[in-house]
Amino acid sequence: MRVDIVSIFPEYFAPLDLSLIGKARANGTLRLAVHDLRAWTHDVHRTVDDTPYGGGPGMVMRPEPWGEALEALAPAEPAPDGTIRDRAASEAAVPPRLLVPSPAGVRFTQAMAHELAAEPHLLFACGRYEGIDQRVLDHAATRMRVTEVSLGDYVLFGGEVAVLVILEAVTRLLPGVLGNAGSLDEESHAHGLLEAPMYTKPATWRGHEVPEVLRSGDHGRIARWRRDEALLRTAARRPDMLAALPPESLDKRDRAA
Ligand code: SAM
Repeated sequence: MRVDIVSIFPEYFAPLDLSLIGKARANGTLRLAVHDLRAWTHDVHRTVDDTPYGGGPGMVMRPEPWGEALEALAPAEPAPDGTIRDRAASEAAVPPRLLVPSPAGVRFTQAMAHELAAEPHLLFACGRYEGIDQRVLDHAATRMRVTEVSLGDYVLFGGEVAVLVILEAVTRLLPGVLGNAGSLDEESHAHGLLEAPMYTKPATWRGHEVPEVLRSGDHGRIARWRRDEALLRTAARRPDMLAALPPESLDKRDRAA
């Protein structure tokens, strides 16, 4: 997967050299480039913002550098004769999916992470201040798919942290990134439930015992216990998720629980 990130704080992305994302980059599973938006400014101050039309506090990101950045990083449109005008900028004649973090976007979920993991090319535009001039998104939408995406119902300083979160959720779904791909099938949100509590050695720690069933070696009982705990936890913490489960995904013993 190819990923391009545009930000006025490229340094924010230093952690993307670490751990499993770092490995995915090193082995070519993830071809990631971080770009400084100011590279597409042309004044001595490298200006990227200005005051909002209509008044109000804060600053808004100007459209010109964003327009140039997106043109440089998204594959060029085919010319009327069918040739691609700027081959250097386009590895394939398929435009990337543009993701713009915003508290006013659609909520990011594990389902969206799966959807994004199937894309060949993601392009992230990190807003700062009061966000990016809306015309940048409207114009981009005439030539690529644009999704404004929110991490949750709160407001951050900028889109960088949101991109780190989204990218981590997406990268771990890419084939070969996780040592044990089975973990993906058993974790929270994989099947509309939260995961049951997990334990490791020692069996007793500061007076707290690992539940006996997990030490029994009885795989049937263990599976049933984990399922019951997942249902109870989801009911207690996320009744909305439990209510959204399709009835056919529940077995008889689930209903009894
Ligand atoms: N004026 C904007 C509004 O009220 O919707 C908030 C702008 S916020 C201070 C600056 C940037 O942080 C946004 O452009 C976005 O990139 C990012 N951001 C803030 N909260 C976010 C959230 N919950 N999810 C994703 N990105 C967020």
